[in-house]
Amino acid sequence: MPELPEVQAHAERLTDQFRGAVLTGFVPFNFTALKTVLPSPKTAYGNPLLGVGRRGKYLLLDFGAVHFVIHLMQGGRLLVDDKQSPKPRNGQARFAFADGPALLLTEAGRERRAGVWCVATDALAGPPLDRLGPDALDYNGATLAAAFTADNMRLHGFLRNQRHIAGLGRMLANEVCHRAQLSPFAMTGKLGAVGAAAVVAAIHDAVAEGLAYERARSDMSSSADRPGRVHHRVGEPCPVCAATIRSVSYSGYTVAYCPTCQTSGKVLADNTTSKFLK
Ligand SMILES: [Zn+2]
Repeated sequence: MPELPEVQAHAERLTDQFRGAVLTGFVPFNFTALKTVLPSPKTAYGNPLLGVGRRGKYLLLDFGAVHFVIHLMQGGRLLVDDKQSPKPRNGQARFAFADGPALLLTEAGRERRAGVWCVATDALAGPPLDRLGPDALDYNGATLAAAFTADNMRLHGFLRNQRHIAGLGRMLANEVCHRAQLSPFAMTGKLGAVGAAAVVAAIHDAVAEGLAYERARSDMSSSADRPGRVHHRVGEPCPVCAATIRSVSYSGYTVAYCPTCQTSGKVLADNTTSKFLK
């Protein structure tokens, strides 16, 4: 899933390419693509795109009175659409402009979870963005320490929870834990001010690396391409200490970590996979 660096860099690219383009049409290709009824997307017709922003992992297309809020989920992409074919492959919705290419929301696979919300600009504090906590880059040591104390849970789970901290996903949760030299299973309530400060520094470090990579590209990377120290590197040597990167797998994702850097050498196990981790 695209995370903060990928979405941020994509917003910047789209702003560069589409700012000022006048919206002439919004065309959903199936009934799940548009998640809202009011206001009508037609409210934005005739308005220029003022810019594309980001909140958490959402893209925000700003047309003045209304914003289109887009979540790409796992397989969604918002692509420059030169062809504008009547039935685009994997097409979910299209934004057509008075001149130049359109923007096409696509989603690979059958899940149909990516979507578009048309939201009055003065209602942006409501759904769907109201479920987001503070942006990952807006936390400081003190505010994160307070949030850790308020919700005592595994660090990896906290970092992936958009209500607690917005913009990180499975990859950055792994990368942040590694850079902070903390176990993904560390309980947030025990991390204290020192642990929170280490996590804030790790977030900025991991996001900066991802942004530098992503801003050098002309399109959004896929997960396997992104730079990382532990994510997608299970079985490889840790770039810090050369120990072998290990993992604990869950149905939807993999927690990757370095035992030497993060868990005092302890191999993490859970009930479902421990027998495979020998
Ligand atoms: Zn290591």
